[in-house]
Amino acid sequence: MVAMHKSDPTAIGVDLGEYNLYTACPVKMPDWKGAYTISGDDLCVQLDALREQTAALLGSEYDRDTIVAYVKDRRVALIEAIDAAARELCEYASAYEHPVLVTEDSHFKPDLWAWVTDPDAHRGTSWLLPIAHRRLRTIAAEYSIEVTTVPEEFSSQECHVCGVLGERPLNKTFRCTNPDCHVDGVYADHNAAKVLAQRYYPGQQCAYRPSRPTSPDDRPAVLADGGIAENNG
Ligand SMILES: [Zn+2]
Repeated sequence: MVAMHKSDPTAIGVDLGEYNLYTACPVKMPDWKGAYTISGDDLCVQLDALREQTAALLGSEYDRDTIVAYVKDRRVALIEAIDAAARELCEYASAYEHPVLVTEDSHFKPDLWAWVTDPDAHRGTSWLLPIAHRRLRTIAAEYSIEVTTVPEEFSSQECHVCGVLGERPLNKTFRCTNPDCHVDGVYADHNAAKVLAQRYYPGQQCAYRPSRPTSPDDRPAVLADGGIAENNG
């Protein structure tokens, strides 16, 4: 089933986010300016609107089954939009020889119902990012593009040039704190995508070592079942 390639793989880091749904950066690009982004703005607006609409429906005379059906219907449209974004990304990646999409390992399960009904739910982690990750894998398979994951630790803080942990003073931009490094004011998503691409290769690890390793127990449940929660609505 898997196509055989004679060329060395080209790792393309893919950072997932709300502002930029997908940010892709191949490891061989000279710097972050070569990154390719697909906006998540429209999806976020739709998700916010769906949450408001659902709250209004739950406070109305509609029965729960009708409201659940409504949310499922909206979910189909949202996934169509995500699939279109994933296809755009795969078209971009297809221009490279033997592309391998490298994403961070995701520990969240997509649960749209939680987003629309739980006031504490986070828009990105409750549904958008895990479903965007899953749909990317599905669409990439249609293109025969391999998708792999690397550890996510500090990938959004590590400098893509020197490996030191930097700052995000304006959140969307990244600044390295290493006085010997020139990285300043680059887009944080681009930096993260490049870091992910580099982690595909052995020995490309973050220069920073936390004093206490992150315990797996501190994390949400690992997505190991293909998404039971999502299938339940
Ligand atoms: Zn640096």
